[in-house]
Amino acid sequence: THFGFKTVDSADKERLVAGVFDSVAAKYDIMNDVLSMGIHRLWKRQTIDSSGVRPGHKVLDLAGGTGDLTARFSRIVGAAGEVVLADINAAMLNVGRTKLHDMGVVGNVSYVQANAEKLPFPDDYFDCITIAFGLRNVTDKDAALRSMLRVLKPGGRLLVLEFSKPESDWLSKIYDFYSFHFLPRAGELIAQDKESYQYLAESIRMHPDQETLKGMMETAGFAQVDYQNMSGGIVALHRGYKF
Ligand code: SAM
Repeated sequence: THFGFKTVDSADKERLVAGVFDSVAAKYDIMNDVLSMGIHRLWKRQTIDSSGVRPGHKVLDLAGGTGDLTARFSRIVGAAGEVVLADINAAMLNVGRTKLHDMGVVGNVSYVQANAEKLPFPDDYFDCITIAFGLRNVTDKDAALRSMLRVLKPGGRLLVLEFSKPESDWLSKIYDFYSFHFLPRAGELIAQDKESYQYLAESIRMHPDQETLKGMMETAGFAQVDYQNMSGGIVALHRGYKF
C-alpha cells in the first residue's frame, strides 16, 4: 500500500493515523529502541532538560503515547504537581498506563483520551506542554497549536519534539535511504507491519521543516519561538512561550 498523503482528506488522515497506532501500540516501545538505536531516549532527556519544569508544576504530555516523558515529569513535579498524559488513541493510552503503573509511576498522573485540536482543559492551566513525535500525526496542526496556547498559563512554555530536516545533504541522503528502505523492511521483519512504518517514513517527509514550524508557532500566537537541532537536524526541539 502507498499512502497518497496529498490526496487524502482530513477524515481519511484521522482514520489512517488511528489504524497505524492501533496496530503499533503493543510493540511501540521496543520498535522505538530498535529503530532509533536507543537515541530517542537522548532526544527525550534533552526535552526534559529544556522544559524548566519544577516541583509543583502542572504538565501536559500531549500525544504522550506510552508515556516516556510523563514518567520523567511525574518524578520532577512530585506530589504537589500534576502530569496529564493525553492521547487520541485508546490502545496507546492503555499501553502507557500499564507501563507506568508497573514502573510505580502513580499518584500525580492522569490519562485523558483527547484530540490535540480540541483540548478538553480549562484556559491558562498548564505550566508546560510537550508534544513529542505527535504533531506530525495531527490533521489540523494550526488548530492544535492554538488549542495548546489556550490551555497554557501565561509564562508557560510549549516544547515540540519532532522529526525535521537534516542540516547537510549527505545526512539527508543517508536518512532518506534509512527511512524509505530500511524502515519499512524493519517494520515488516520485526513487527510484521510494513504499512505502519511506511506511514512513519512518509509522515516524516511531509512534516514542516524547522523554519516553517517556527513560523506556524508564531502565527498561532507563541512568543520567543526558537529551536535546537538534534542529531544533525533529524530531530528538532522547538520552544515557544505564552505571554
Ligand atoms: N510522545 C510519545 C513518544 O514520544 O514516544 C508517543 C509518540 S507516537 C509516535 C505519536 C502519538 O500521537 C500516538 O500515540 C498517537 O495516538 C498520537 N496522536 C496522533 N494524532 C493525535 C491527535 N490528533 N491528538 C492527540 N494525539 C494524537
